[in-house]
Amino acid sequence: MLASNGRLKIAIQKGGRLTDDSLALLRACGFDFEFQKRSLYSPCRNFELDILALRDDDIPEYVQDGVADLGIVGENIVRERSAKVKKLLPLGYGKCRLTISVPRGANVRSIAGLKRKRIATTYPATLSHFLRSRQIKAEIITLSGAVELAPSLDVADAICDVVSTGTTARLSGLREIHTVMESEAALFTGRKTASDPKKMQLIESILIRISGSLQARGRRYMMLNAPSASVPKLKRIIPSLKSPTVVPLADEGMVAVHSVIAEDVFWDVMEKLKKAGASDIIVVPIETIIR
Ligand code: AMP
Repeated sequence: MLASNGRLKIAIQKGGRLTDDSLALLRACGFDFEFQKRSLYSPCRNFELDILALRDDDIPEYVQDGVADLGIVGENIVRERSAKVKKLLPLGYGKCRLTISVPRGANVRSIAGLKRKRIATTYPATLSHFLRSRQIKAEIITLSGAVELAPSLDVADAICDVVSTGTTARLSGLREIHTVMESEAALFTGRKTASDPKKMQLIESILIRISGSLQARGRRYMMLNAPSASVPKLKRIIPSLKSPTVVPLADEGMVAVHSVIAEDVFWDVMEKLKKAGASDIIVVPIETIIR
């Protein structure tokens, strides 16, 4: 039986915004599995781990109750479900904000203007908690989707919804007035799993793999050749992981410099390196960095 096969279970969103990134992360960690969206679980061939494909709304409860030992889900969903789970690692994707917006022409500039207004949302628990904490009495209209349409249908005066770029809200003629919370996908576990030493040992090794692959994300390994006299100058230019590796080449007076570099500064740094005497610059992807 699935629930008692002794293997670790990690729940991920079955089909949605977080699914592809979650699968890519697990694959980058070396887990070998075939993922079937329609089957509940996909076993890993090379690790005692089963991947459960679930609706993201259900993941916090399943992790809390120990049905899944780990879960990857948005922090916003965990907050909304008030689940008693422990965050192990933020994962850097699925970034979004839960914001309150009003129609562009509305005479509401701040949350104080929401008193006695109707606010449509799919996050009633988070919104209600937020309004209470600010002592604002407003009516919460709970919808199951397409919240941005509520003001134009005169169902609500404001909305509280999840946005990443804000484009949907802008296109619907809405203006953001407040951010209730920021969120990203994160790895969670529950109390029952945390009290099982065998499972915690497996989780430790999963955490090492995930952190390694998160560290490697956005970084490249760079190798270049240069006259040894230019090394001090190159060192000043390279924002290295620690200090760059410098190895002598067969050609006297020449060295190879190896270093890790952030993807977003690479092009900028590369021009400076060339000017400082670097040649034969090679940049390759990094799979993982274990510290
Ligand atoms: P989905 O149900 O497939 O839309 O995925 C929803 C989850 O993805 C949310 O609970 C958030 O954690 C995350 N997310 C990231 N960006 C957005 C966005 N622009 N709108 C809704 N959810 C987002």
